[in-house]
Amino acid sequence: MEKADALVSLLAENAAKVDAEAEFPVENLCALRESGYLGLLVPTEYGGMGRGLDDMVEVARSLSTGCLSTAMIWAMHCQQTDVLVRHADAGLRAELLPRVAAGEVYLASITTDTNKGGHLLAAQDSLAHRGELLTLHRDAPVVTGGVHADGFLITMRAHQEAREHEVTLVYANRKDLSVQQTHEWRTLGMRGTHSVGLRLSGQVPAHHIVGAPGRFREVAADSMVPTGHLGWSACWLGAAQGAFSRLVRKLAASAHKGGTDLSSPLVQERVARIRLDLELVSAYLSKVREEVSALRESGRRLDAPSVQIHLNTLKLAASELTFQAADRMVQLAGLSTGYSGDSPIPLERVFRDLRSAALNYANDRLLTANGALSMLDRAVTLV
Ligand SMILES: Cc1cc2nc3c(=O)[nH]c(=O)nc-3n(C[C@H](O)[C@H](O)[C@H](O)COP(=O)(O)OP(=O)(O)OC[C@H]3O[C@@H](n4cnc5c(N)ncnc54)[C@H](O)[C@@H]3O)c2cc1C
Repeated sequence: MEKADALVSLLAENAAKVDAEAEFPVENLCALRESGYLGLLVPTEYGGMGRGLDDMVEVARSLSTGCLSTAMIWAMHCQQTDVLVRHADAGLRAELLPRVAAGEVYLASITTDTNKGGHLLAAQDSLAHRGELLTLHRDAPVVTGGVHADGFLITMRAHQEAREHEVTLVYANRKDLSVQQTHEWRTLGMRGTHSVGLRLSGQVPAHHIVGAPGRFREVAADSMVPTGHLGWSACWLGAAQGAFSRLVRKLAASAHKGGTDLSSPLVQERVARIRLDLELVSAYLSKVREEVSALRESGRRLDAPSVQIHLNTLKLAASELTFQAADRMVQLAGLSTGYSGDSPIPLERVFRDLRSAALNYANDRLLTANGALSMLDRAVTLV
């Protein structure tokens, strides 16, 4: 994917400013639109690149070596695209996917709710059905790229009498909504994702429901969770890998000038432990990606407990181990290279960014889910 290599230098150039100003990387998104990469997962019949999860993972990993915020923006857009490709009805696919492929539509995701928090499979604000139109009012506390998105995939309670677990996913064009920003995004890291709070209201046609009404759980298991966990993990790995590559180059260069003693067993052990964390994430990511791709190719479902455990484990392991690797890199590099914002290696930013990984869908939620799922997979089907 040679185009991605060209994008990485632009992302790396803009990364410090995007982080310092906590601003959305407009120039990077523009380049992604022009490159055709917003349509990576759009089938060729709709004018897209027609690629699969292998390429999504590889591009996400690569882009993250330049700017983790931008890579996450892109990976989450791909996640939403996959949901549309697999679950939108033929009319919505025909209407929307050519525009995504042409780079006209950048998609944002709204699942988090002001009251029920991060829980993916519950929603409070409900859809009102009026003939062929659906009316929605949604408070969304965290929406990556929400101010710049051209369309939104939004989880809603299916109707006014529905229980909170009867969730419907609905697509809305920005132009059909009134969108008001309610919160700023002033965070420790991932500042370039500009994940602000929004209040959205408007009406959308009934055929903009994605998947069966009230059964978002099926869309989540088949598409949103697999692509999310694969894409995020690839991004986190890429950011840590990029920083580590720069650090080992710097250590090697400084050793020639009488800097770090690379024959020191302490230094070697520290380097080896970082490498160990990255190797484990990389291997687990590859295995889960292969498992999901194989199931998809053979038309099988992804909702078996063991498959869901593997997907959750990937997110848990990638978020914890890449952050641990970044922490270890800071220690190995020392104060001026590891901890200073003026360092030639952006370790300080990568450390702050990766701290969000365990929060970006709370690891506690995935651990409790995996505890329960493990009781259903008594044969212990390991990846
Ligand atoms: C960079 C970034 C980008 C994001 N982009 C988006 C976006 O575009 N769209 C969107 O909708 N959301 C987005 N989110 C939000 C994200 O998906 C999560 O919903 C959010 O991070 C969860 O926030 P929370 O920890 O406050 O909430 P919750 O998940 O509600 O958790 C609240 C607290 O309860 C704890 N907890 C939860 N469940 C359990 C349990 N079972 N056992 C014990 N403790 C538990 C958690 O650890 C946490 O301390 C983004 C988040 C980040 C960091």
